[in-house]
Amino acid sequence: MRMILIGPPGAGKGTQAANLVKRYQITHISTGDMFRSAVKAGTEFGTQADAYMKAGDLVPDEIVIGMVLERIAQPDCAAGFMLDGFPRTRAQAAALDAALKAAEVGLDAVVLIDVADALIEERITGRRSDPETKTIYHLKYNPPPAEVAGRVVQRKDDTAEACTARLGKYHKETAPVIPFYEEAGLLVRVDGVGAPDEVFVRITTALEALRTQAAT
Ligand code: AMP
Repeated sequence: MRMILIGPPGAGKGTQAANLVKRYQITHISTGDMFRSAVKAGTEFGTQADAYMKAGDLVPDEIVIGMVLERIAQPDCAAGFMLDGFPRTRAQAAALDAALKAAEVGLDAVVLIDVADALIEERITGRRSDPETKTIYHLKYNPPPAEVAGRVVQRKDDTAEACTARLGKYHKETAPVIPFYEEAGLLVRVDGVGAPDEVFVRITTALEALRTQAAT
């Protein structure tokens, strides 16, 4: 299974990706996580990406595209992968399409997690994660248990200011790639409002329906 997860910042992509890769036994590729690891490791590549991320800007296509195409060519992606946070621009979608065609493989699904703009800021600014287990929490909607609460951290780009910039980029740069996948019959649109388990069931139900449809 090769799939893409798209949605505005704070839609729950990270949470759902973790469940989906377990369910379908595929490799999770999060471009945001790849950049955060590079920042943590203090590489030059990380330093370059950090400035864009902090401002809520997109890292330039020429950096992201090479990184992802190299990653999906690795042996652990041969049985399938989930791209979480890529593509985010038309140029990224076109580059991915060309690379998959050249490798003579196709995508199975593109899952769009829909959440209205009005709900995004609260979701983003309340988000915290456990650096040990990588579990994502929300201070109000999914608070960390007492034994974890003391060590949770907030992403540097989860401020109200960076959130506005990220949402603006999503509408301007990322939303235009959606029709491309819709026309290809690959798009699965799911309501992202509700408990993570409910959203997961919506996604897997919609994916099964798409598979059945593709098989008939
Ligand atoms: P995420 O964890 O997916 O929210 O990504 C965090 C940040 O990493 C984004 O706000 C961008 O600055 C950068 N980033 C992640 N994926 C991409 C991408 N596909 N294209 C450009 N920038 C990206």
